[in-house]
Amino acid sequence: MNGNVAVVIAFSVALTCAATAKRTAPVHIPLPRNNPLKNIEQQKQENSPPAASLFSEKKLPSLGKAMAIGYYPRGCLQGGVELPTTGPTWQVMRPSRNRNWGHPELVKFLERFAPLVAKATGWKGILIGDMAQPRGGPLPFGHKSHQIGLDVDIWFMPMPDRVLTKYERENILASNVVAADGKHINDKIWSPADVVFIRTAAEQPEVERVLVNAAIKKELCRVESQNDRSWMSKVRPWYGHDDHVHVRLKCPADSPNCRAQPPVPGGDGCDKSLDHWFTDSILRIKIPEFGGSSAGLKLKDLPAACIAVLNAPASPASAAIKEQSEPRR
Ligand SMILES: [Zn+2]
Repeated sequence: MNGNVAVVIAFSVALTCAATAKRTAPVHIPLPRNNPLKNIEQQKQENSPPAASLFSEKKLPSLGKAMAIGYYPRGCLQGGVELPTTGPTWQVMRPSRNRNWGHPELVKFLERFAPLVAKATGWKGILIGDMAQPRGGPLPFGHKSHQIGLDVDIWFMPMPDRVLTKYERENILASNVVAADGKHINDKIWSPADVVFIRTAAEQPEVERVLVNAAIKKELCRVESQNDRSWMSKVRPWYGHDDHVHVRLKCPADSPNCRAQPPVPGGDGCDKSLDHWFTDSILRIKIPEFGGSSAGLKLKDLPAACIAVLNAPASPASAAIKEQSEPRR
């Protein structure tokens, strides 16, 4: 008999005996479950560190062909690539978080989308918030999704006509375009260019969904009432998202283990389905994404391939690129 198994069985017999002997005593000794081996395995997993801390420790992407693995809120990213922190029409905010990584399709999308939206809105460019960690995976704070390298947050605040300093990128606050009551947009902050910004994102074929606060969706329904609103089915109301939009790309063709999200329902979404977002119970909920439950996920909750991604050597090319792209000031 395998030595470990013998020890486990002896241990469980001892526990069972102890429980039997003390049955009449007031002290309650829990009995082991039916399968002591499984019990120990479960315990090991329960004591294992959260997947978020394992993934956030990895400063560089894994070697290997780029692949989005799993589902947006439960997966990881192999062969991630970095979006340079400063581009002609974009700047990455909060670079110290090291979340400017994605599947190459996401980086390619942003490099194409930034100049496109700058032209459409008249902005100098866009400010980019969180994408994914170098190897994707759950994040210790901030999001449930953003795990497979296909999600990006883009601020409503247009990029200024200069390169922001490192300090500014870490400290400037995004502008909240929603009024304090959560039911309307804030007219002082909101501008027609914001409509163009959201529409341009939703119109891109590789985009799966654009998540915005329900008050923003309501405003889009109002201002676009006379126009073609077919693009608006992709614009979905969600908690928070009052100072940025969340753009999610479809699963890329090179990622067979990427799980597609069920398609958005047809129609523009400017119907009764929007009303429940303005009920008191929903309005009271403050961004459940924040400090969200992905921080509690364990490795066992992710696709098995994510363990290989976590343990893979770092891609050496990415280290050199990262070194060059850090903001200097
Ligand atoms: Zn987001």
